[in-house]
Amino acid sequence: MSVSPNLIECTGVSKLYRMGDQEVSAARDVTLSIARGEYVAVMGPSGSGKSTFMNLIGALDVPTSGHIRVAGKDLGELDGNALAQLRNETIGFVFQQFNLLARTSALQNVMLPLSYCRPQRADAEDRARRSLERVGLADRMQHVSSQLSGGQQQRVAIARALVNDPALLLADEPTGALDSATAEELMKLLEELNRSGLTIVLVTHDPEVAASARRQIRFKDGKVLSDTLTGGNS
Ligand code: ADP
Ligand code: MG
Repeated sequence: MSVSPNLIECTGVSKLYRMGDQEVSAARDVTLSIARGEYVAVMGPSGSGKSTFMNLIGALDVPTSGHIRVAGKDLGELDGNALAQLRNETIGFVFQQFNLLARTSALQNVMLPLSYCRPQRADAEDRARRSLERVGLADRMQHVSSQLSGGQQQRVAIARALVNDPALLLADEPTGALDSATAEELMKLLEELNRSGLTIVLVTHDPEVAASARRQIRFKDGKVLSDTLTGGNS
């Protein structure tokens, strides 16, 4: 049996949300794969299913029909514990709102995901430090969230997402709350992380942000409208 180079494989994935007697098709027959090492921008108008797609491939939501494989595992065959383990070990999440704990140091915020697998405290702190160094915050480890700028807070969130050394980073509008100069710096960081081997799938409204990625997937009404390869910025 050969090992698939694909980190993500979606086959005929649909998601139907029911709200009372209303039905919304948030994903319609999505079939695509994303190889290890890719950098993909997900685009499309508001309500087109971008976040739904991210939640599905991030094992945060289950499809109504179809199959999703992540790192060779069919998500439909995993129980709750196995899904939690996959999310914890293989996937890092970043959102528009940084979701950091207030009045808590950058270091403590980044150590948070490690409390689930209970390594030695010194080891956890070591890993969190390295993760913060990776995002350029070596000199801000003891700062609490309110002492950090928006861009720095998003870097802490990225360090937290990377602390378990995941293969995949899912970022849903990570620059949505940042001014354009700060957004540009953040994109440079993501490009650097991608060059070091991290697979990135990023949702954005901003064509300039999307141009950073080598592949753009556009959604409309839950369907893939286009899927194109470009040069990217790197
Ligand atoms: P996008 O991220 O592109 O703005 P979403 O994936 O959030 O789009 O939403 C796609 C569609 O699914 C929208 O019509 C939205 O209202 C609907 N939707 C998303 N999440 C839910 C939910 N939990 N319950 C009901 N409808 C939802
Ligand atoms: Mg969204």
